[in-house]
Amino acid sequence: MNYVSTRNTEVKVSASQAITKGISSEGGLFVPENLPAVSVAEIEKLASLDYIGRAKSILSLFLTDFTEAELDSCVKGAYETGFSSEKVAPLVKLEDGTYILELFKGPTCAFKDMALQILPRLLTVASGKAAKGTEIVILVATSGDTGKAALEGFKDVENTRILVFYPSDGVSPMQKLQMCTQEGANVSVCAIQGNFDDAQSGVKKIFTDKAIAEKLADNGMAFSSANSINWGRLGPQIVYYFSAYCDLVASGDIKAGDAINVCVPTGNFGNILAAYYSKEMGLPVKKLICASNSNSVLTEFLTTGTYDKNREFFTTISPSMDILISSNLERLLYSMSGSENVCKWMNALAETGKYEVDAATLEAIKADFAAGCCNDEETKATIADVFKSKDYLCDTHTAVAVKVYNDYKAASGDATPVVIASTASPFKFSAAVLEAVDGKNDSLDEFEMVEKLAEVTKKSCPEQLANLRDKAVRFEGCCSKDSMEQVVFDMLGV
Ligand SMILES: *Cc1c(COP(=O)(O)O)cnc(C)c1O
Repeated sequence: MNYVSTRNTEVKVSASQAITKGISSEGGLFVPENLPAVSVAEIEKLASLDYIGRAKSILSLFLTDFTEAELDSCVKGAYETGFSSEKVAPLVKLEDGTYILELFKGPTCAFKDMALQILPRLLTVASGKAAKGTEIVILVATSGDTGKAALEGFKDVENTRILVFYPSDGVSPMQKLQMCTQEGANVSVCAIQGNFDDAQSGVKKIFTDKAIAEKLADNGMAFSSANSINWGRLGPQIVYYFSAYCDLVASGDIKAGDAINVCVPTGNFGNILAAYYSKEMGLPVKKLICASNSNSVLTEFLTTGTYDKNREFFTTISPSMDILISSNLERLLYSMSGSENVCKWMNALAETGKYEVDAATLEAIKADFAAGCCNDEETKATIADVFKSKDYLCDTHTAVAVKVYNDYKAASGDATPVVIASTASPFKFSAAVLEAVDGKNDSLDEFEMVEKLAEVTKKSCPEQLANLRDKAVRFEGCCSKDSMEQVVFDMLGV
């Protein structure tokens, strides 16, 4: 299978090249030339396998230049022991019949682990094929969770270096601590003065700068990306939608072929795009429900066809969704409208911060997607309600999805079984979650809040978060948007 650029379909590369390069040199994103089809009969077969078996099966459709042994070792390495649930991504059925897909059982307690535990392994194999002998430099812009998950995935991986930029005031104290205490000889972390979009634009600029690329090449290095613009992250995310569906079939909750809805708390549009690809491949999904916080640029776009990032930016209690430029939307636009329109719209976005899709594209979008948003007060009220009425504690991001789903169901009357993606442990966002269930506890520090939350809810904090308390801070630097390039050079010593 070949991959093409969303901005130029003449650019054709192998899976290994797509993963090694991360982004196409003219700024487009790599997408499979054709999506493989999976039939209901094949889904039934997958239902009898465990997560590792399902992952190997789905990923083999996309990574056609990997040998079976290579894929086996990547998948096992990522999912065999690193997750605290044997099922890797377990489904929890709530009393009201909704299914919560818990994607946060990995080492950093956020759904990013689902992809970032395997990406370094895929990249090591891929670069061995596509760029032998080159040291891979991973640059990450993070709204909080990607950074830690990427650091944890890449730490001490041979022939790689990783540098993470995060917005100084845009991450939770726990997220910041997770990153700044990161161990590993090949890692570096730096705050930037600005928001996530600034960090992401800065990283994207460095990536596509020819002079910088040459300087790296002279030193035997090349950039790649661990952000969700890298295909190596999207593929593994497709797996868990198939797996969730298989779990429902295996438990007899649905019959193979029955439709489900999927609701996803969305920021950069990676997670929900994986759900869309699953649907396109044949997973029986009726509606994809896109949930946003007060940064509701996607809600507006998916319902009106106008994307406009010229709006107030809100720092919310669901910081991993505080995004106004959702990079992966470009891949959806490519699927629905082709590369010529993608170029037109992405140029308009770069120049004016705005674009409007044509009526046919909007119609296609609306056939597949529903969208909604909620603010911080509604998010907290939802956490409290779900906890009190169903004894389930969800994090702030997941709560946005629960609220948006409830609104969707009430407005549409659509009672199709729903899988709601749960993207983080509630203990990662203890301050807001504790406030929701127990009122304000401002006098407590982060770890006292964690303890109080555990006590009040009788749920236990994942060890890897509780242990951070005793770790030494290694990275305290903060730079301006304009000095990111220099920080990269300093870190690499070039
Ligand atoms: C990254 C993240 C999201 C948003 O996912 P996208 O793929 O960027 O849409 C939602 N919730 C949490 C906890 C995250 O870390």
